Amino acid sequence: MSIPENIAIIRERIDSAARRAGRSPHEILLMAVTKTQPPERVREGYDAGARLFGENRVQEFSGKSDALRHLPNSEWHMIGHLQSNKAAQAAELFSAVDSVDSLSLAEKLNSAAQKLGKKLTVLIEISIAGEHQKSGIAPQSGELEQILTSAPRLESLELRGLMTVPPFTENPENVRPYFRRLRQLRDDIAGRKLPAVSVDVLSMGMSHDFEIAVEEGSTCVRIGTAIFGERPK
Ligand SMILES: *Cc1c(COP(=O)(O)O)cnc(C)c1O
Repeated sequence: MSIPENIAIIRERIDSAARRAGRSPHEILLMAVTKTQPPERVREGYDAGARLFGENRVQEFSGKSDALRHLPNSEWHMIGHLQSNKAAQAAELFSAVDSVDSLSLAEKLNSAAQKLGKKLTVLIEISIAGEHQKSGIAPQSGELEQILTSAPRLESLELRGLMTVPPFTENPENVRPYFRRLRQLRDDIAGRKLPAVSVDVLSMGMSHDFEIAVEEGSTCVRIGTAIFGERPK
């Protein structure tokens, strides 16, 4: 299957999952995850209509960004774990960091964005499964609370929502509870009406489980393999 065909099929599957859940398909963004893909392949995705892209590593993207970053209307998000010492470079290369997992990272991104005179959109990465996962903040943690209450002073950041990567399971039905809990957490936070905190975005769902994520309220699915094929190991 070609990249355009894959994208068309995924859009259809998003549409049907949305309808099953009584949602409008327009609420759901499709993010093309382009890690390990060379610029020519990414460009095929762009030509097939993809505009929102996710990359995992600052270093990798800086190597290929010249060819891609300025494609008209394209939007590039950092979605992988970000080390503090790469925060400044990430703030420069990306329009959004969807994987903020500590207050200190949020602070570094804020000062980097301020120096660049730009607003950086951010999502907080939540690890619903807790200690089993390498990145993300636990839902009940003090760290999450600190980021939320610090939002008003992080003036160069625009907090828009939450992101999660659930543990991998063979049967995607097993991840439904994780998606549901992220949505509940979002609703709890929204209900508190905290200053400078918006949680409209729920970034959840990947190639093998995005339909379930859409049924559970995802507003952005992050798809790599199902668009570009298996990544080289
Ligand atoms: C790689 C990656 C994806 C895409 O995964 P696929 O299974 O290839 O669709 C989505 N989100 C994050 C954070 C990733 O690292």
